[in-house]
Amino acid sequence: MLDTAALNQLLNQPQKIVITTHHKPDGDALGSSLGLYNYLIQQGHHAKVIAPTDYPEFLAWMPGNEEVLIYTEQTEQAASLVAGADIIFCLDFNNLSRINQMGELVRQSSAVKVMIDHHLEPEDFDDYRYWNINACATAQLVYTFIATELNRPDLINADVATCLYTGIMTDSASFRLPNTTSAVHRIVADLIDAGAVNWRIHELVYNNSSEMRLRFLGHCLANKLEVLPEYNTAIITVTHEELKKYEVITGDTEGIVNYALSITGIRLAGFFVERPDRVKLSLRSKGEFPANDICKRYFNGGGHRNAAGGHSDAGLQETVQKFKDILPEYKTLLIQ
Ligand code: 5GP
Ligand code: MN
Repeated sequence: MLDTAALNQLLNQPQKIVITTHHKPDGDALGSSLGLYNYLIQQGHHAKVIAPTDYPEFLAWMPGNEEVLIYTEQTEQAASLVAGADIIFCLDFNNLSRINQMGELVRQSSAVKVMIDHHLEPEDFDDYRYWNINACATAQLVYTFIATELNRPDLINADVATCLYTGIMTDSASFRLPNTTSAVHRIVADLIDAGAVNWRIHELVYNNSSEMRLRFLGHCLANKLEVLPEYNTAIITVTHEELKKYEVITGDTEGIVNYALSITGIRLAGFFVERPDRVKLSLRSKGEFPANDICKRYFNGGGHRNAAGGHSDAGLQETVQKFKDILPEYKTLLIQ
């Protein structure tokens, strides 16, 4: 493991840097990556953000977005950048399986690997780790990494601030989750002072839906919501047919699970979607209920206690049935 002084020294000369983040990047994945990118380019580094897969329009506006490479679309160029990198920053994930085929390339690379992350149970592939599960977002950690560890708060310009604000805003569900501490609000205030235009960022991310996206949400809520009162659980199940009918594109399903969780008394919410290759599920929970435990034990996944995900190779109905069959095991936790 490198210490901060050694990493800092490395960063004192221009380096070839790759920044990568988890597949199907969300606001924090992209915001933290582009925030770091906009910091590094000010120091003359040759930096590139590589996303393993593409991402929705409502995230495709942050400063530096036009420079992002998508691994599935620009595979050769991205692979050669990974192979030739001096430093690879791994942001908002801590297990190489989260970056799909890029995982093995990163593992094999001789670059110095830096992990900045807030997920549980990191895999041991890194040379430098800036990791804190109490952080509400990786973007929060990028902020303190730059401002405190590298001691360059002066380089948090409007571009850096805009990206980091977006990451914190999205991962904290607009500053609502329990880990949105006063320290987070102070950081957010600093970011606004540095040039993040908070109301505009909210508009770009949250008021930027297609008509079909809203109709799809309506369909899910009116027709697909199933409440299981004896388990304080609510689920929404979506077939591949419905995805096609509503022209659902990347990002359109983001956040729908939270509506199920917003019902009074509901402690566990699930969103099951039939993708072409497998069923993907998203779980959200309140309080102490460990959504990640269900995903890890039964659905090849994991995540945070209150926000977790996984997948299943069984069909949609079988997967939902399996989930329902598991609930009795968690009943005491769900009804207390
Ligand atoms: P989402 O439901 O939005 O896809 O994911 C919520 C959280 O669960 C993510 O931030 C991530 O930490 C975790 N997660 C989602 N899918 C997986 C998965 O397949 N494996 C693991 N380990 N974590 C996942
Ligand atoms: Mn995150």
